[in-house]
Amino acid sequence: MMPMPVRRALRRWNRLYRETRLVALSLREKDHPVFAHVVVTRRCNLDCAYCSEYDTHSKPVPIEELLRRIDKLAALGTTTITITGGETLLHPDLEQAIARIRSYKMICVMITNGYLLSVDRIKSLNRAGLDRMQISIDNIEPDDVSKKSLRILDLRLRWLAEHAEFPVHIHSVVGAGTTRPDDVLIIQKRAKELGHLSTAGIVHDETGKIMAIDAESRRVLKEVEDNTRSAFSFARHNPWRKKLLAGQPNDWHCPAGGRHLYICEYGLVHYCMAQRGYPAIPLDQYTIEDCVREAKKPKPCAPYCTVFCVHRIAWVDQLRENPNQALVQLFPPDENTGASTIPAPVRVLQSLFSGSAGKTPSPTTVAFRKAAMRLLKIS
Ligand code: SF4
Ligand code: SF4
Repeated sequence: MMPMPVRRALRRWNRLYRETRLVALSLREKDHPVFAHVVVTRRCNLDCAYCSEYDTHSKPVPIEELLRRIDKLAALGTTTITITGGETLLHPDLEQAIARIRSYKMICVMITNGYLLSVDRIKSLNRAGLDRMQISIDNIEPDDVSKKSLRILDLRLRWLAEHAEFPVHIHSVVGAGTTRPDDVLIIQKRAKELGHLSTAGIVHDETGKIMAIDAESRRVLKEVEDNTRSAFSFARHNPWRKKLLAGQPNDWHCPAGGRHLYICEYGLVHYCMAQRGYPAIPLDQYTIEDCVREAKKPKPCAPYCTVFCVHRIAWVDQLRENPNQALVQLFPPDENTGASTIPAPVRVLQSLFSGSAGKTPSPTTVAFRKAAMRLLKIS
């Protein structure tokens, strides 16, 4: 068997290739779903005080039904599926679902509280082809609000550092007493020591609206962003998040219902986890026409929305329609010098797949674009 660093490197390059291809597809096609969240069970083994996503008794979605839903999402042209719950590791056939997602060349992400991880389960997730794992950790020691605690999960994080062939993101929710804000910095430091990534989310109510956060939490969120390893982190540059943290609403169009779908345990399509009940159409009857219609509908919850993955899709759509404006929104000019801060690779991708607004692409750009499309197997 190949040594772990080699296996990880191969998987990393394969994932990078597929993710680049999917970003290019998302830039080119404007109607298909980019992200879908699929609930595999509503049951959870924990009971976080701020959570409205779980119960204590539901059965897992039967695997045949789950596979049918994945097939349907693939037929709609979905590029990334995130497996969510409840607690996803409670699903006995989770690996079959992951393998099915990967068989369509989609990116497969899973969210878990990590309690049920073991070395054997990590190896089985490797074999299934999992692309990314997100683990939520809210505090150092368990308390009445959350038991997703570093002290309990540290051993699992070490197992992941040793055996996982996929990247692991540690996600912490900050604000409204969910955690002691400085715990998040300790969690981030530990994540870095183990080679994991870390992000911090803002606490929201059950409708997705940001909740009031104090100055201490604001400081911690800023510090986590500043410590983020990747220069291209959307969390770090996200202009929607910056305005929300400044207490201001965002003026944007939410494309959920088309570009983002949330599939509940009953197989109904909803805008997102926070806006369940709209449009609540069975996935097996959902069409591209439904995607287009629902994506266009105005969403009254948009101004204070904290669902950052949908912001990201809206930004990609804006990049296609008005690339210059989108890039300046994400990478504003340097405050002191006025110089552009747009990273070179982002400029190359933008010019290859979306062109410059109002300009006819040069023959070299057209040739480059065709070659890249062939390389990425986008017909
Ligand atoms: S672990 Fe996740 S799904 Fe379970 S109660 Fe906590 S937040 Fe909700
Ligand atoms: S704006 Fe869109 S993503 Fe945000 S809560 Fe509303 S429907 Fe969900």
